[in-house]
Amino acid sequence: RSTSPMVVVSNRLPFTLAKNAETGKLERKISAGGLVTAVAPVVVEAGGLWVGWPGIYSENGLIEIPEADPNDQSPTAGLKTSQVIAVDLKKEMFDKYYNGCCNACFWPLFHSMPDRAIFEGDKWEAYKIVNEEFARLTVQAIRQLKDKFPNSIPLVWIHDYHLMVAANHIRDMCDEEGLRVKMAFFLHIPFPSWDIMRLFPWEDELLQGILGCDSIGFHVEDYCLNFVDCCKRRLGCRVDRDKMLVEHNNRTVEINPLPISIPYERFMKLAEEAKSVLEVDDNKQLLLGVDRLDYTKGLVHRIKAFEHLLEKYPEHKENVIFFQVAVPSRTDVLVYQELKEELDQLIGSVNGKFSTPNWSPIRYIYGCVSQDQLAGFYRDASVAVVTPLRDGMNLVAKEFVACQTQEPGVLVLSPFAGSAESMREALLVNPYETNEFADILHRALTLPKDEREVRMIKLRNRERTHDVNYWLRCFLKSVECLEDENKTIS
Ligand code: UDP
Repeated sequence: RSTSPMVVVSNRLPFTLAKNAETGKLERKISAGGLVTAVAPVVVEAGGLWVGWPGIYSENGLIEIPEADPNDQSPTAGLKTSQVIAVDLKKEMFDKYYNGCCNACFWPLFHSMPDRAIFEGDKWEAYKIVNEEFARLTVQAIRQLKDKFPNSIPLVWIHDYHLMVAANHIRDMCDEEGLRVKMAFFLHIPFPSWDIMRLFPWEDELLQGILGCDSIGFHVEDYCLNFVDCCKRRLGCRVDRDKMLVEHNNRTVEINPLPISIPYERFMKLAEEAKSVLEVDDNKQLLLGVDRLDYTKGLVHRIKAFEHLLEKYPEHKENVIFFQVAVPSRTDVLVYQELKEELDQLIGSVNGKFSTPNWSPIRYIYGCVSQDQLAGFYRDASVAVVTPLRDGMNLVAKEFVACQTQEPGVLVLSPFAGSAESMREALLVNPYETNEFADILHRALTLPKDEREVRMIKLRNRERTHDVNYWLRCFLKSVECLEDENKTIS
């Protein structure tokens, strides 16, 4: 557990506020993500604080956080109102910062899809203003922690691409008040190569913003090296690629690969308890895809490869079902609406082309499924098809493995997902190469049981030991060692 009291700073609070339609009172709506599950107990136990946007706009400039419902069993239930600081943003400002800068610019750019990125100065300005507001409230949180724990050095942990330029504001304000803090940043999406990053017109400000932290975490080593490379080439920083250190403003900043993971035991238990809701004949094999409906997830490429599989290997006709769950995402954005149209049409055309009176090749849910139900799907699938065009980590691949408690299935994985760096026993496939993709699907469907078993045991063992709690422990250890003498560039 953390030795310093912690302030977690993220775009969203670990729960969302919503008005109860009957009482008109604000209530907490629980978020079930792995990150919240792992980090909330640390904040709760160490008496820390969480700074974030609550999911609503204030009516009178004041957002009052309600205490948790007495029946709330979630990891955030122990988080008292006094441990939460809600960032109050005006709708117009939030739109520019969140939709305009984070999602229309950083999301595609950091996923190495620069043609989709929109670079607009006013959105970048809004981003910086919002980051400053987060910083102001974070310093408020630090002051509270200093009052409560006068002899400790608080740890500020900033999350994700929404808050890349908050650190230096926090540092400056703390310096003015003589407050000592340690700061860490973790990026939940990929960090692209310099050749992509340099397309961002304000790259130096962005890099300097991230370097405001003492410790910077990315999912995998490649993203760390990309970042180090950008610091060297754009800012001219002295760097050490072996020790993963960057010198900036007379400070040495440490870079760490910290692959995030899932609550493995929880998923395994869910799978053991889940009912089989999918009605699939015993002799039919199920291929499963579970994704947010996002252009980074490669859904169109995947369906085209499945279509090609049925053409090239007709023996699978009537014997396989592709089951795709696509969670609605950013539905007010045109490119996401267009993607949905394209996918609807493609699935319709494949089903029209191959269906027989008693069989349709694709079952498609456009909606969100609970993790209890997902666990059953993961357990019952013969093949999980996790083939993003680019993905920071991809937790679905790990959840599938955790839920494979019965007959061992096969994981088909894109090398462009961060999870492919460690999940070496998966069958890797380049999602852009349709013919090869169809071959790999065929191989997955026909892989002998002993080979499936060997691969799945290795995958499961690794994920069981490297779960989300392990990720958290590695992070806490990395910030504890921040002042080690050997962490300087010679
Ligand atoms: N998920 C869910 N319900 C669904 C589909 C997905 O709860 O219907 C969850 C899934 O269990 C996983 C997360 O959404 O934990 C997706 O995480 P991932 O890293 O794969 O992709 P992201 O959406 O973060 O890009």
